[in-house]
Amino acid sequence: MVDGGRLWLRLSELAEAGKQESGGVTRLSFTQEERAAKDLVASYMQEAGLTVREDAVGNLIGRREGKDPDAPAVLIGSHVDSVIDGGNFDGPLGVLAGIEVAQTMEEGGVETDLAVEVVAFTDEEGARFSFGMIGSRALAGTLSVEDLKHEDRESVSIAEAMRAYGLDPEKIGEATRPRGSMAAYLELHIEQGRVLENEGLPVGVVTGIAAPVWRSLVFKGDTGHAGTTPMQLRRDALAAAAEAMTVIEAEASATGSSVGTVGRLGVEPGGINVIPGRVELSLDLRDIDEATRDRVEDRILERTRELCGRRGIGFETEVLQRMVPVSCSGRVRSAVQTACGELGLGPQDLASGAAHDGMQLAGLCPVGMIFIRSRDGVSHSPDEYSSEEDCEVGTEVLYRTALDLAVEVRGF
Ligand SMILES: [Zn+2]
Repeated sequence: MVDGGRLWLRLSELAEAGKQESGGVTRLSFTQEERAAKDLVASYMQEAGLTVREDAVGNLIGRREGKDPDAPAVLIGSHVDSVIDGGNFDGPLGVLAGIEVAQTMEEGGVETDLAVEVVAFTDEEGARFSFGMIGSRALAGTLSVEDLKHEDRESVSIAEAMRAYGLDPEKIGEATRPRGSMAAYLELHIEQGRVLENEGLPVGVVTGIAAPVWRSLVFKGDTGHAGTTPMQLRRDALAAAAEAMTVIEAEASATGSSVGTVGRLGVEPGGINVIPGRVELSLDLRDIDEATRDRVEDRILERTRELCGRRGIGFETEVLQRMVPVSCSGRVRSAVQTACGELGLGPQDLASGAAHDGMQLAGLCPVGMIFIRSRDGVSHSPDEYSSEEDCEVGTEVLYRTALDLAVEVRGF
């Protein structure tokens, strides 16, 4: 069994790095706060008996050898960077749980066929450069020199921040792991939602990681006087946009798995007594199944064009970002389900609505994730919380899953 008390103590110690008055943390990438967190994590890795190194993008990696040094490794990890004034569990839990897994193996004298590696990825959140998952992209070989031109609010680029941190941006290719070098990637994470809490379950098996398509939708009508323009003569851009929003809600709801959100609404000219002539809204549409998501998107656009035609409103739309969802590996999911069964936990399948490093690694190896219950579903906030018991049981599931995968060389 893993040591939940030790894990909890380390979570509270790590919460001191970049601690804010609110009780939350701010640990942006390539800063002193992130450095302090990684130094502490490196000391835990050493206590766990791992061989510790940092790669060319600053990913902190601890390795425990298996019987076959040439076999692919089981990689377990998460991140220790945070959003501004973020919580103490998003990221740190997965890294510290990975170390706890390795330390439990070490203390139990457990020999595995495959090596087990624990990683703290560099900059998952993207809070500093509005460009995240830097470490996992580098590992997967998809981080380009062009990507390092993204700048923070002080106009410092990723490449410049790396240099100031003691890394050479020219060498990012050295962080890339060859295909076949990883047997699987496992991550324990807080759910950041309310599904498990509503079900009364501590642990869930992640089926896939949803990815968003982001669009802007622009509605063009006629500005007019709110008092003198009869209803039948209006071409109200906001009324059309409002109808489109009900279409988005209905079409996303109809699948049972998709989620659609309008988070931004720009209304022009924006006067209380003026009929809106131009409205721009944002659409964030997600599903773990790309075909389902894209079908919902098509339906939304088709119905929006139809309603705009009926209302005499001009309509334009543009894709801002289109990411590819990732399905979790069936082999890894069944190992997680077996572990849950052994512990008498009702396995709950759920999708990840938030993005995670595993998305970047899916091209490199099979990916699996385990979620634990988040109090009130709150995340990216100092109020983010999961109980000591839930952290422990989630880590025990992670341990059993890692053991299952690391003793078996073939079968993926
Ligand atoms: Zn996270």
